[in-house]
Amino acid sequence: MSFNNLGLQAELVRAVSAQRYSTPTPIQTAAIPAILIGRDVLAGAQTGTGKTAAFTLPMLQMLHGSSNGNRNHPRALVVTPTRELAAQVHESIRTYGKYLPLRSAVVFGGVGFHPQAAKLRKGVDILVATPGRLLDHAQQKTVDLSKVEFLVLDEADRMLNMGFLPDIKRILNLLPKKRQNLLFSATYLPEIQKLANSLLTDPAHIQVSPKNAATDLAVQRIHPVARTRKRALLLHLIRTENWKQALVFARTKRGADRLAKQLLKAGVNAQSIHGDKSQSARTRALADFKKGKVCILVATDIAARGLDIIELPRVVNFDLPHVPEDYVHRIGRTGRAGIDGLAISLVCPEEGDLLNEIENVIQKRIPIEVIEGFQDAPREGNRPTAKPAAPVAQPVVRRMRPGRRPDNRRRR
Ligand code: AMP
Repeated sequence: MSFNNLGLQAELVRAVSAQRYSTPTPIQTAAIPAILIGRDVLAGAQTGTGKTAAFTLPMLQMLHGSSNGNRNHPRALVVTPTRELAAQVHESIRTYGKYLPLRSAVVFGGVGFHPQAAKLRKGVDILVATPGRLLDHAQQKTVDLSKVEFLVLDEADRMLNMGFLPDIKRILNLLPKKRQNLLFSATYLPEIQKLANSLLTDPAHIQVSPKNAATDLAVQRIHPVARTRKRALLLHLIRTENWKQALVFARTKRGADRLAKQLLKAGVNAQSIHGDKSQSARTRALADFKKGKVCILVATDIAARGLDIIELPRVVNFDLPHVPEDYVHRIGRTGRAGIDGLAISLVCPEEGDLLNEIENVIQKRIPIEVIEGFQDAPREGNRPTAKPAAPVAQPVVRRMRPGRRPDNRRRR
């Protein structure tokens, strides 16, 4: 299968060739023809599958030929949960649409309102937005959504997890009844099904990974460790395995800041990224990380959502997420096409129940690897027992470097 066979016009195929994509990904092969014939789509696909191009390319084609995004009436609206994802989707629209005369804009919070309003006033065909700022613009009448023909809800599960459902409903009320709708979600929670039922008409169902399955491209492993020794273990892994780059997830903003500071103090080039940081600080940290200037990026779930970081070899769960589906999102950051990814979780005994829930969602048990000197296994019984059929990997004990005294006493 090639991009030529998907029904895309020459300008789009040319833009894709410029990106050196040789073949469409499975989500692209399935979604592009369905969207081009005007169908609504419900797609189960996480970041890294090529989902952005899967909706952007046909969206550009559908809009092209009738370009009249006059004044502040966008004809296509893409709603995303986070600012970073909005910026990335907008970047993709510019990349894939560079040979078409369509105009696009992106609006999200944390940056000035008026420059966005000025851009909208000039006229846009496609608007990418996060829900809160979009509603601000609608309220201030700097955008009019009554001419939207094409709606994409990207990472809809994440939007619901972040409590955006009331905002989404408000946005839907501002749209005309007749339009084409696409809903992309990495996981299928019952709430997503409910939203899909209310939003989509006879949708094409496209699923590129099994329901709620963690990406198979990422090798997953658990290192049991006492909570108080997590940082020491992380440093040990960074040093002994000579990590060049890893995205480390912390549960709280303060935890992310603290960990980044401690790593810096220990001589590891680390930075944190979370919702309390200014947009420019977040963008800078991400750019430095992409360039390799920053070795460890410590992020909260919200800040990291949808980050498109190519060739990320390692994702670390310093804390397990409280929402099990976030585990799937987190490790979706690694193991992308052509790269062997490794997803490491540092799990303390207190997190046994969370681990249990995660393993229920991904429907497999994650192999345990004990790093000698750091072991502190999740309490027996907190390990899932519900699915005895699933194979449990024997713990592997990795030897420490000679000369170091293993300390396997549990701290009280
Ligand atoms: P996404 O899932 O949209 O976040 O895309 C993940 C990454 O895959 C992005 O860096 C895209 O540039 C890249 N990508 C998208 N489509 C293709 C393709 N057909 N071949 C190779 N890479 C692609």
